[in-house]
Amino acid sequence: MTRTPLNPEQESQLIAESKKLLLIAGEWSKSADGKTFPVEDPSTGDELCRVSDAGPRDARHALDSASAAQAGWAAVAPRERAEILRKAYELIVAHQEDLALLITLENGKPLAEARGEVLYGADFFRWFSEEAVRIDGRYNTAPNGQGRYIVLKQPVGPCLFITPWNFPIAMGCRKIAPAAAAGCTMVVKPAEQTPISMLALADLLTEAGFPAGVLNVLPTSNPGPVVDAIIDDPRLRKLSFTGSTEVGKDLFRKSAGNLLKLSMELGGNAPFIVFDDADIEQAVAGAIIAKMRNAGQACVAANRFYVHESVAERFISGLSDQMSKMRVGRGTQRGVQVGPLIDASGQRKVNDLVADAIQRGARTAAAPAQVADRGYFTPPVVLIDLAPDSRLLHEEIFGPVAPVVIFKTDEEAITSANNTPNGLVSYFYSQNLSRCIKTAEALEAGMVGVNRGFVSDASAPFGGIKHSGFGREGGREGIEDYLEVKYVALSI
Ligand code: NAP
Repeated sequence: MTRTPLNPEQESQLIAESKKLLLIAGEWSKSADGKTFPVEDPSTGDELCRVSDAGPRDARHALDSASAAQAGWAAVAPRERAEILRKAYELIVAHQEDLALLITLENGKPLAEARGEVLYGADFFRWFSEEAVRIDGRYNTAPNGQGRYIVLKQPVGPCLFITPWNFPIAMGCRKIAPAAAAGCTMVVKPAEQTPISMLALADLLTEAGFPAGVLNVLPTSNPGPVVDAIIDDPRLRKLSFTGSTEVGKDLFRKSAGNLLKLSMELGGNAPFIVFDDADIEQAVAGAIIAKMRNAGQACVAANRFYVHESVAERFISGLSDQMSKMRVGRGTQRGVQVGPLIDASGQRKVNDLVADAIQRGARTAAAPAQVADRGYFTPPVVLIDLAPDSRLLHEEIFGPVAPVVIFKTDEEAITSANNTPNGLVSYFYSQNLSRCIKTAEALEAGMVGVNRGFVSDASAPFGGIKHSGFGREGGREGIEDYLEVKYVALSI
């Protein structure tokens, strides 16, 4: 049951009732120094509320709590952990409307998309409730026949999770669910722009039965000192980060002293190829999905479109027609398909990338829609005639802008697609099986979407290669990131 249309009173009430504190050792508390920071509504720039602002002392307290809970949580029977995760799934689904509204209010994405994010996130709890009871190992006879080997898997230990604002609930679920399934405890640092939905999720996880100390949440406006306070602590055993490649590299370096096990889900620069034998209608529909989710602010957003010369006109006119008709506005309003960008700096960056491309000769394929002056809106736009050195062909755009480049041969398309340090996801459309297999194998990416603009699924291993990082979230692989291998040698 969805509850649109919403009214401002419902929104204020939900914000008033939501958690705005730190969660440490099962208790909701203010930060040690009593500071708070503001959370904005990106569709207006107005302050939604203030949230407790964690500092280094809170970080140490949270790690004390995660560390104290570790042995007990690892010893909980897998079936019992699985049932807590299953309960978490059910509670998240039951509260999807409130969670979705919180996401929309602090992130800006349309409610329908926010609901999709909540269900996608919930699915990680369902999937890993099923995986929690399937952690296995092996037993074998040594080649000399004398010894016996047991290989077993144990939880890594206390983890630190740092998550971004673009999918404020789902990016947390992708880490919390497999870690909890494996028997790890954790400290979560949500993004400054979107802490409220993570705090609401933590409240539900507590209700689902996460014991005190297993999950600790530290909203903060100053992540550096919070992370620095615990990153070298020997009790911390893993860091899983989702965010920009730049910050990821910095954390990689910082974690070296403590030799933390790492998962890095970093930036993308996804190519989207349309071959001459593609179904163009489907390719346009897939392009809208791949480009426009969260107004283009997704790590898996199609960043560069490569289209065969023989189908370019049809694809460009189909895509620009659909993008220019999309309704831009506040995410809580009925029918809105594109919300604002996250903040003033995100908006400035997208506008600068478009200005740079136009200054180098690019043209818009259709006149952009008018958008509100208030809030951080920017209109969806398709750009053609791009100079090869246009910045938006090389940088992650993170906005509703689709640059289209025309190609002649498969080799040219694949070489251009791979011409980036990133390697998160690639998409292409073709109806030729042999070309599909060859292209999927040739693309340098951790994930490939063939005739579809969407690859995320709790049951599949999400992750990148090259400068998009390493580690996998979801699928059978997802739990392995939270397990250590131990080999026991027996003489008999
Ligand atoms: P970001 O600036 O790297 O921030 C991500 C997280 O890191 C936030 O929680 C941020 O906290 C924190 N952070 C920033 N500086 C830090 C520091 N010095 N020490 C410790 N933590 C620090 O990235 P973003 O702008 O939020 O997110 C967009 C990026 O995430 C894009 O590049 C996107 O592609 C990537 N992303 C990747 C995936 C994936 O699965 N591969 C998924 C989603 C997003 P504050 O909020 O307080 O700054």
